[in-house]
Amino acid sequence: MASQPDYYATLSVPRSANADEIRKAYRRLARKCHPDLNPGDKAAEERFKKVQEAYDILSDPKKKQMYDQFGFYSESGAPGGAAGARPGPGMGFGGFDFSDFVPPAAGGRASAGHAGAGGNFRDLFSQFFGGREREEQPRPERGGDLEYALNIDFWQAIRGTQVRLNVNRHDGCAACGGAGADTGAAALCPQCNGSGNVNQMVGAMKFSIGCPRCGGSGRLKNTCPSCHGDGRQARTESVEVRIPPGAQLGSRLRVAGKGNAGAMGAPAGDLYITVRVEPHAFFRRDGDDIEIQLPVTVSEAALGAKIEVPTIDGRALLKIPQGTQTGQKFRLREKGVENTRKGARGDQIVEVVIQAPKANDERVREILRELARLNPEDPRADIWTKV
Ligand SMILES: [Zn+2]
Ligand SMILES: [Zn+2]
Repeated sequence: MASQPDYYATLSVPRSANADEIRKAYRRLARKCHPDLNPGDKAAEERFKKVQEAYDILSDPKKKQMYDQFGFYSESGAPGGAAGARPGPGMGFGGFDFSDFVPPAAGGRASAGHAGAGGNFRDLFSQFFGGREREEQPRPERGGDLEYALNIDFWQAIRGTQVRLNVNRHDGCAACGGAGADTGAAALCPQCNGSGNVNQMVGAMKFSIGCPRCGGSGRLKNTCPSCHGDGRQARTESVEVRIPPGAQLGSRLRVAGKGNAGAMGAPAGDLYITVRVEPHAFFRRDGDDIEIQLPVTVSEAALGAKIEVPTIDGRALLKIPQGTQTGQKFRLREKGVENTRKGARGDQIVEVVIQAPKANDERVREILRELARLNPEDPRADIWTKV
């Protein structure tokens, strides 16, 4: 599997960087390795392209979210391309929504600017950092996209699932094949009796005007009785959707061609499914990581212990060291969610919560008092230096 570029590293920003920091880093790097400042330097040019690609993704909230979520952003909707690990799409499954990706015109834009600006760096630069023009490409008038929300439970999200959705969509009319007209002979227009003209009175004057009903042709185009001439028909279709393992709240899937049919036989739009994952009572998800809170006794925390903890694949043994404090977190590597796109598993993070003994028993209270005498440590000593 090809390794995915680390766009954050490319821009030398932390993953927590905000939009402003990302933009600043990009500008700084783009200036540094701009081809005009490094004539003939292939390495700088390559770097320039990489920086632009990184910025292209990280500056677009939608792409950035996708990248943060899956570790890569693919230009093609085909899920096999970059991830490789995914099995072939199931019926009607078009992969996650990468359809609106605009390929980084980075190199192209820069060299076009170069030619146009006649080597004038300032002109090129303002052009380059000015508005981002996107060339609108004429597209055939396709049908509208449909949006559906899908609720799945915690385990379905982790393991993947296959669901059938009843989608209300406009499909091509079966009766007329989408043409909107039936095949019978065109009938005479009843308004003009086939003449194509009707009389209209304006004041006392009579005018002959083109018949508004038939448009002056004298004949009515037969309209399909099923779709009333629209060529489309509303129907409920059962669409099978495969949710890959590792889906999380907000994951968006595209099922190509299952949106509304286009008018007069134009291609259909796509069906987009946004996944909502119901929370689990115990396991909490943070991307591919699973987080849990683990209650431990004072003795376990103070002396150290080996504790059985639940994970999404069963029990695992966690060793906590002597002197563990509440809030301390331990990582069980690769016990998190399998991310088929990254080809890696997340971790399970275990947060320790120390529970005080109930001390219902006089003997227990006695031991605790004894402990207090033996352990004169003041856990609050530190806070007075901070306030
Ligand atoms: Zn029809
Ligand atoms: Zn007419």
